[in-house]
Amino acid sequence: MVNSSDGFTWTPTEGISQGLPTIGVVVPPARSIQPQTATYDAIVIGSGYAGLVAARDLATQGKKTLLIEARDRLGGRTWHATIDGFNYEIGGTWLHWHMPHIYREISLYGLHNDWMVTQNPGSKEDYCTVTTGDKQRNISHDDEAYFGGRVNEIFCNVDGNNLRQSWKYTFGTNQSPEFMAKWDKFSCKDRLDQIRDQLTAEEATILEAQLVQMGGNSIDKMGLLDALRWFALGSHTGTGLNEIALHTRLRSGNSELHRRIFGHALSSGNLSYSFKTPVQRIEDKGGIVTVTARDGQKWKAKSIICTVPLNVLSSIEFYPPLSADKVAASQEGSVNKCNKVHVDLAGPDYLSWSSLTTPGKGLVAAFGDHLTPAGNSHLVAFGPDPKTAAGITLDSIEGITSALTYLLPKEKQNEVSVTRIVTHDWNKDEFAKGTWCYLPTDFTTKYLAALQRSHGNVYFASGDFSDGWRGWIDGAVHIGMQVAHQVIQKQKQTTAAVRSHI
Ligand SMILES: Cc1cc2nc3c(=O)[nH]c(=O)nc-3n(C[C@H](O)[C@H](O)[C@H](O)COP(=O)(O)OP(=O)(O)OC[C@H]3O[C@@H](n4cnc5c(N)ncnc54)[C@H](O)[C@@H]3O)c2cc1C
Repeated sequence: MVNSSDGFTWTPTEGISQGLPTIGVVVPPARSIQPQTATYDAIVIGSGYAGLVAARDLATQGKKTLLIEARDRLGGRTWHATIDGFNYEIGGTWLHWHMPHIYREISLYGLHNDWMVTQNPGSKEDYCTVTTGDKQRNISHDDEAYFGGRVNEIFCNVDGNNLRQSWKYTFGTNQSPEFMAKWDKFSCKDRLDQIRDQLTAEEATILEAQLVQMGGNSIDKMGLLDALRWFALGSHTGTGLNEIALHTRLRSGNSELHRRIFGHALSSGNLSYSFKTPVQRIEDKGGIVTVTARDGQKWKAKSIICTVPLNVLSSIEFYPPLSADKVAASQEGSVNKCNKVHVDLAGPDYLSWSSLTTPGKGLVAAFGDHLTPAGNSHLVAFGPDPKTAAGITLDSIEGITSALTYLLPKEKQNEVSVTRIVTHDWNKDEFAKGTWCYLPTDFTTKYLAALQRSHGNVYFASGDFSDGWRGWIDGAVHIGMQVAHQVIQKQKQTTAAVRSHI
């Protein structure tokens, strides 16, 4: 298997190895169905889920399409590496049948029986460790669900009816503008301050750890509206989001699904691609758009679908320039700068262990996911933006190990042995500049519509500003599909208009 240059792994015997083996790498990196000077119907920039789905829909509906990607691999912020027979999801991981757009892809490509469940019960350390200041308690997983659900419900129940009326249709875009405007002004910290007197110290820790895990920053930087939207998406219940969004993943990994979407697009005979090709400039002039890569290569198309992440958008030069609101939105951006770290512990004992804390020593949450083929406990851990007071950078293995150790029961801290760490620094990654989208205060009502708006013949599709499951894989598939359809319809209208003038 070929290594992507993204990510790294560490073991006590081999130290750090940069780059990770994945089926997502595309070799050779370029293929063209037409001369470089010919005009494409569409160019799609970015091969994450939004770009892959858009390119597939365009190519399979007869559009000559070029997919341009800065990286050496498919998948963008979602991909898996395979090490010693185990699939580590480096970015986006959990998927569910309550996420309709991605489930359609999963079933379309025959992966509907390919699930594995995270958080399997029954290992020796079968509890959740909650660390609140210098106090620590191991609670049962039933209590973890009870307290986690209870605090989330108190936090999100801003209307006294669990948003059942005021945010009834979570995929709709036009309901309750006054409600949105009001709560968009609140940060998660503002809301926590309102309800703090209803929580014990331990419950406040559980809530804050859950929030930091959701938004990857300190809670004063995180807008309340995304937490409310996720609660509504979780069926207006305290535990619904966890059951949908941290439960099931693909056994064969996200990169397998990317391969199948990409293969389908290629089978149309209409898809060209160029990987390892960062785009520098997009110029829309006289009805044709020219895309210029950093290495000077140029391509032309009638329409462009740009799927680069929100935090990256302002680093591409546009002519005519992007509107001021789009630029401001990208510069302000998603606040989610979390670290996601895979840690394997020797032996099977921690398969069903989990942990929550705040502020912690760099990580606020960890939970068992599965056993590796070697029989070790594979844990996934999350921590906030390295720039926050309790954040850590991923440069130090010692820092990661001690952050994880802090989450363990005190009496076990000297017993466990880390056999492997796998991660990628999404914050230093110039093509991501962060992880999944979590919006700051006063952002959604101000910028969401502007981000979704097209700019001449340039269209925008990113999971960071979709409707519905915004910030998730489902949102990326949702908006990729919608925008490809818009482009196809627009080109049909243009062709019809030209014909009526002949
Ligand atoms: C650590 C982490 C954990 C996550 N966990 C989950 C989860 O469990 N479940 C879930 O549903 N979601 C999760 N997400 C979110 C999910 O991964 C994203 O919402 C989704 O993948 C976004 O897809 P996208 O196509 O919109 O963007 P991306 O996947 O970021 O795709 C954009 C593409 O554009 C490329 N690009 C950027 N700049 C340029 C340029 N100048 N030229 C050419 N190409 C460029 C990028 O390389 C990238 O491939 C997670 C994300 C991360 C990072």
